Amino acid sequence: MLIRITNTAEPATDLGFLLHKNPANLHSADLAFGKAYVFYSNAAAQRCTACLLLEIDPVELVRGAQRPEDYVNDRPYVASSYLTVAMGRIFGTALAGHCQKRPELVATKLPLEITVEVIRSRGGAEILHRLFEPLGYRVGAAQLPLDDNFPEWGESRYFRLNLEARATVHDALSHLYVLLPVLDDEKHYYIGDAEVDKLLRHGEGWLRNHPERQLIVSRYLRRRSSLMDQAFDKLLDEEGAAVEAAESNLEKAARAEKDLERPMTLHTQRLNLVAAKLKDLGTKTVLDLGCGEGKLLRRLLADRAFEQIAGMDVSHRSLEIASSRLRLERMPERQRKRIRLMQGSLLYRDKRLSGFDAAALVEVIEHLDRPRLAALERVLFEFARPRHVLVTTPNREYNVLFPTLPPGKLRHGDHRFEWTRAEFASWADAAGARFGYQVSFEPVGPVDAQHGAPSQMAVFSLPTEGGE
Ligand code: SAH
Repeated sequence: MLIRITNTAEPATDLGFLLHKNPANLHSADLAFGKAYVFYSNAAAQRCTACLLLEIDPVELVRGAQRPEDYVNDRPYVASSYLTVAMGRIFGTALAGHCQKRPELVATKLPLEITVEVIRSRGGAEILHRLFEPLGYRVGAAQLPLDDNFPEWGESRYFRLNLEARATVHDALSHLYVLLPVLDDEKHYYIGDAEVDKLLRHGEGWLRNHPERQLIVSRYLRRRSSLMDQAFDKLLDEEGAAVEAAESNLEKAARAEKDLERPMTLHTQRLNLVAAKLKDLGTKTVLDLGCGEGKLLRRLLADRAFEQIAGMDVSHRSLEIASSRLRLERMPERQRKRIRLMQGSLLYRDKRLSGFDAAALVEVIEHLDRPRLAALERVLFEFARPRHVLVTTPNREYNVLFPTLPPGKLRHGDHRFEWTRAEFASWADAAGARFGYQVSFEPVGPVDAQHGAPSQMAVFSLPTEGGE
C-alpha cells in the first residue's frame, strides 16, 4: 500500500523538512509486521512527491491466526490501521506538529495532492466524500474493477483515493492518521484507553466540529461504548468549557487570549513543541510548573517515555479542572502512579520540586510581577535544579499582527508584562549565567520576518558531565 503526498508550492522540496525526511535519501523503518519506506518519486522546486510505501509480510501477519479466513485476506494490501502504525513510526515528528529545522513551516498551508492506494471503504465512495470534504478537500474516489481482464465482473470494494487541498502537512497527516482506519473499519490491534487519547490528539482542531464526528469516533474506537463515552466526554468538555458557569475574571481573560490566537491554534503548537522537546531531550521525569488545566500533562501522560509527571499550580481551581479533565479518579492504577498534582507557588522553595529531569513553564512567567522573577529563578534554578528547563512566553513584537488587539495592549488581562525577543533573551541569558545553565532559544508558531514568532521558548540545560 502506498500514500503519495505532493507539494506544488515553490520551493516544493520544503516538504522534506516538514516530513523530516531528506528527499535525497531512502528512509525505512522496521515494524513488527513488515517494513515501511519513504522515498521521493519527484523532488523538484515546482513539484515534490513523497511516497510512503508499506510492505507487510503476509506470513508474519498470519502467525498465530486462529480462523481459516485469517490466512487469506486483504490486510497486507490495503490502507488500514497497519498503515497508521507505520505513519506514527516514520512520520512521528511531523504528526506531532513539529519541525526542527524550519519550525515556521509547520503552520503554513501548502497546495497538497494526496493519493492513497488502495483503500477499502466501508460505505463506498459516499463515505469518502462525507469524511474528507468537510475538511476542505477536493475528493476523487476511483472504484477499482474486480479484475482488469474481466470488466463484466463489476467493481470491487476497493478505491484509489485522491485528495487536494490547501492544508498544512501536519493537518493532512492527522486527517489520514485518523480517517484511514475509520474508512477501513477494522483494526489489527487491541483497542484500549490509549486509543481515546490518540484519537483526540490527532483529531485536535478538526474532529470536534466535523459533521461526521459520531461515525468517526464510533468506528475509530470499534464501537466500544465505554471508550466512545470517554471520547465524547472529552470532546464535549472542550465545548462545555465555553459555557462554564462561574467564570473568574482570570478565566475570561484567558479565553480572550485564546480567541485572539485561535486562527493559528498557537497554544496547541506551543504545547506540542514543548512535549516534543522534552522527549527529544530524553527526559523521563518532568515537572509542569503553572500547569493550569493540565493540557501539557495530558500530552505527557499519553507518552510512556515520561515515567513520572508532576503538575504544580498556585490555583486550586485550575488543579481541580486538571484533575477532572485528566480523569485522575478513574485512571487505571498503573497510569495513576505516573502523575501527581500539587498546589504550590513557584515563588517559594519547595522540596517536592527536586529530583526531576526537566521542568516546563508554559506561559507562566508573564503572570508574575517582574520583581518577583528573582525569587522564581532561585526556586527553579538553584533549589529544584532540573537538568533542563523550558520556558515559553509571548513575544510582544508580534502583537501588532493580531488584527483584533488594540495597539499597546497585552494579550491577556492577567499578564504583568510581555517581552520582546531581546528582553526575553537578556533575562534568560542572565539567569542561565548566574546559575550555570546553557541557554538556547526557539520560536513558537509561524515566524514573521520582521516581528518574529508569536511566542518564544528558552531551553536551559546544565552542561553535561565532562563538559562540551
Ligand atoms: N501552563 C498552562 C497554564 C498557563 S496560565 C498552559 O500552558 O496551559 C498560567 C498559570 O500559572 C495559571 O494556571 C496560574 O494559576 C499559574 N501561576 C501563576 N502564578 C503562579 C505561581 N506563583 N506559582 C505557580 N503557578 C502560578
